[in-house]
Amino acid sequence: MIIFKKAEALKKHLEKITKSAQSIGFVPTMGALHQGHLALIRESRQHCDVTVCSIFVNPVQFNDPKDFEKYPVTTENDILLLEEEGTDILFLPSVNEIYPGGLAGGIHYNIGYLENILEGHYRPGHFQGVCRVLHRLLDIVNPGSMFMGLKDYQQCMVVKRLLEEHNIPAQLKMVDTLRETGGLAMSSRNLRLSPAARQKALAIYHALTYIKHNIAAFTVEQLRQQATRIIIEGGFEKIDYVAICHPGTLQPAGDADKNAPLVALVAAFIDGIRLIDNMLVG
Ligand code: AMP
Repeated sequence: MIIFKKAEALKKHLEKITKSAQSIGFVPTMGALHQGHLALIRESRQHCDVTVCSIFVNPVQFNDPKDFEKYPVTTENDILLLEEEGTDILFLPSVNEIYPGGLAGGIHYNIGYLENILEGHYRPGHFQGVCRVLHRLLDIVNPGSMFMGLKDYQQCMVVKRLLEEHNIPAQLKMVDTLRETGGLAMSSRNLRLSPAARQKALAIYHALTYIKHNIAAFTVEQLRQQATRIIIEGGFEKIDYVAICHPGTLQPAGDADKNAPLVALVAAFIDGIRLIDNMLVG
């Protein structure tokens, strides 16, 4: 695996690869890698000639400075995992390399109503930061395909829109969520959970599977209330949302929509750590 720290050097290297008609797959991450990230790498390796992974903890997508400070960094282990997985290139830039003009400013990305619902509502500015870093990374890497996890369902929708609005030719390939035994969605933030909190965190998975199995039996509002109860009784201290939505738009679903596919989404805090998850239901 070749490790690049400089954007220009990586860009030049990848331009040569593209000229030699090899396809480039890109997996952007914030590091603290786990099997969920590695599933994206595997998917990229299956479909593309050259797989590029980036590790960059993007300061401008954190609306909570404490969350940024506490974000786990495990670079040495990440490098070992990526090598074992057969990753061709790792991009490990500094903040200055990604934002040479500084962190302030930047253009406003038009992501429409996605900016103000669910994650957008509870994490103001988050998706602007996501668009900003991906726009920059995509300009450097210029991949044919980019692989992202459905664990961040709304992020996938935002990125689709970013690619369309800015005529970026990369194809977005979305990969199913990898879970721990028991169902907890793998996440870098799980590293911050105590063993007891990790056990309690299963309540989100239980709530989502409850909605999935009972979708026909109750109204949307009843399902939301019951799922909320499961999460709070499971040990979470605060819930941002439990939502049941149309999978294509993330608009709230009504009782008349329950025969069509829907997606249930949750964001909740345990021991001060915010976890998100979602599941296709209905
Ligand atoms: P992050 O490092 O959290 O920014 O995640 C980098 C990429 O990995 C994103 O596209 C995530 O959606 C994806 N990802 C994170 N957790 C999982 C998981 N449990 N299963 C599959 N993909 C994941």
